[in-house]
Amino acid sequence: MPLILDGNRVRDEIKSECRPRVERVLAHAGRPPGLSVVLVGDNPASQVYVRSKTKTAGELGIYNETITPPASITTEELLALVNELNNRPEVDGILVQLPLPKHIDEQRILLAVSPEKDVDGFHPCNVGRLATGRPGPRSCTPAGIIELLKRYEIPIAGKQAVVVGRSDIVGKPMSFLLLHENATVTICHSKTRDLPAVCRTADILVAAIGRPAMVTADFIRPGAVVVDVGINRITNRAEAERIFDPSRLADFDKRGTLLVGDVNPVDMAHISSAYTPVPGGVGPLTIAMLMKNTIESAERRTGLC
Ligand code: NAP
Repeated sequence: MPLILDGNRVRDEIKSECRPRVERVLAHAGRPPGLSVVLVGDNPASQVYVRSKTKTAGELGIYNETITPPASITTEELLALVNELNNRPEVDGILVQLPLPKHIDEQRILLAVSPEKDVDGFHPCNVGRLATGRPGPRSCTPAGIIELLKRYEIPIAGKQAVVVGRSDIVGKPMSFLLLHENATVTICHSKTRDLPAVCRTADILVAAIGRPAMVTADFIRPGAVVVDVGINRITNRAEAERIFDPSRLADFDKRGTLLVGDVNPVDMAHISSAYTPVPGGVGPLTIAMLMKNTIESAERRTGLC
């Protein structure tokens, strides 16, 4: 039986390690760590993500606020808001929830966030710190995956790692983090030739593609560790029948929808030696790492480290 890498368990561990660090900042600086979230417009998915982030921050005693400018805000107005947050001493972390409305220059906004408050790790300064192995905030999802692998004592050094996806948020930072852990890393994308053959070389296969169950048995080397980053919602029964074990179809019929990753769940469970389930694998770690980044920023800014 493969090992199921339980993201909820690791998330709870990370959260319980955060609590005393919040107390320490409070005792030292007379204020808790502070996180400011900017949520532009009324995208329902973004609203759900932001609520989960601020709820977790609240549970940990992190001061948090959500600023909700209307979708009609201009790039200049949003830049002014980010600048104001950069200058507020009690704000240690600034998170601009993506995606932003199309008329806003997203790159200019992300560049305007002070690198020392960039708890998403998206600022080019922090990407440079990551690339060169210097300390700094790391992109939350890949950093959470490294935590998960380490806490399950999955060896990384010397292993062949294949990352499918080269986004700035997941694929690229994931590849750097695995490289810093001394894996031999191959990065794949939509132009990679014979993707299944490349993936079959992996001891550790990370799928961050955004295509439901695209990675099937022919991509997975027997005994590989498979990390499925994808979160895709299936609403079509024929697709559910193609992807899931018949025992899951009752769930689909009840809810009219199921979540699936980028890896076929049945194949992954049969062929891998360890894998992250969807949901309950990688997903829970992202918010926990955001909290960790916010606390680390507060520790740095208040002179605790
Ligand atoms: P993204 O920005 O759309 O990037 C997708 C990557 O997959 C791109 O590099 C793309 O290649 C590659 N790709 C697309 N189709 C491919 C194909 N047929 N063969 C090989 N490569 C292909 O997505 P993302 O933001 O990295 O997210 C990826 C997935 O992770 C999504 O399902 C997202 O919902 C999920 N996600 C989960 C979390 C979490 O907390 N669990 C966090 C972030 C994202 P090109 O560069 O060549 O286009």
